[in-house]
Amino acid sequence: MRLTFPSIELHALSPDELIKNAKYIATPGKGILAADESTGTIGKRLSSINVENVESNRQALRELLFTAPNALPYLSGVILFEETLYQKTSDGKPFVEVLQENGVIPGIKVDKGTVELAGTNGETTTQGFDSLGARCQQYYKAGARFAKWRSVLKIGATEPSELAIQQNAQGLARYAIICQENGLVPIVEPEILTDGSHVIQKCAAVTETVLAAVYKALNDQHVLLEGTLLKPNMVTPGSDSPKVAPEVIAECTVAALRRTVPPAVPGIVFLSGGQSEEEATVNLNAMNKLEVLKPWTLSFSFGRALQKSTLKIWGGQKENVEKAQAAFLARCKANSEATLGKYTGGSSDGLASESLYEKGYKY
Ligand code: 13P
Repeated sequence: MRLTFPSIELHALSPDELIKNAKYIATPGKGILAADESTGTIGKRLSSINVENVESNRQALRELLFTAPNALPYLSGVILFEETLYQKTSDGKPFVEVLQENGVIPGIKVDKGTVELAGTNGETTTQGFDSLGARCQQYYKAGARFAKWRSVLKIGATEPSELAIQQNAQGLARYAIICQENGLVPIVEPEILTDGSHVIQKCAAVTETVLAAVYKALNDQHVLLEGTLLKPNMVTPGSDSPKVAPEVIAECTVAALRRTVPPAVPGIVFLSGGQSEEEATVNLNAMNKLEVLKPWTLSFSFGRALQKSTLKIWGGQKENVEKAQAAFLARCKANSEATLGKYTGGSSDGLASESLYEKGYKY
């Protein structure tokens, strides 16, 4: 008997393709590289190594990552920014082909950043609905098979407000169904920032409330959960609070997810959110070691925590490319092991342990 999905069959061109791609991205042992920094955000990264923010330098950094020897087998997806989707290697090969030939699905950031919600204490909603369907079609033609949309919430005395929770949940659901109508698997990303002095229990409670609202909205808008992925924050204490052990982060995060994320979702791919490279890997590993029922794959969709040491070692210099690629490979391998609960440490040097936290982070 063939399973039918009444909600999505009203909308999507091909539910089978969405399900197949979401499941593939969630393959245990593989994860996502978030290389979709907007031109402004990549500019901040490049200026940290004194490199000018021009297209040739942005291309060089992305080529370094996508052609790093032996790294792509640890990845199932790479999220690209629009400019990068159409770029090529210096030999003239489209990046999209480099990824596809290595079993890596190209993805695309489709949101256009955040804007403040009037009358709130600096809370935001995400923009990018203008011609979203048409853009998704164009990106599909260019080879993209999944998308990302980042919503941002913060923890404060009265935040997140009900308004921010509802606006962002509705926005994510609307984005998700538009992607599915156009053949792209939506990564649903409600990021709760770590800024603040709250305890881990506060982050756990807010994460549960936000995820419950997100899954209610996805259901209301007839999104096919089997053809989606979730990209949440890990549950941690606020950035101004003392740190806790990875096992505590693992337990609190997995508990929040088990209470809110339906088993129909094939994979949960965490953002790194300002954790150091090593912290992010160790926390992911601790989650996968937990002996409780986890009906989804727990993997990574890291930006900063996959690229920071690579970027520093590269420094914009051709002669450093090989070394920088080796650092990138080490992070990919470490995180792949962490998706299996088999990371034993040791990939860390001084660089990988540096904090990547930035107050009020914008992507
Ligand atoms: P970080 O892993 O650097 O938090 O970024 C991931 C991402 O894609 C945020 O939208």
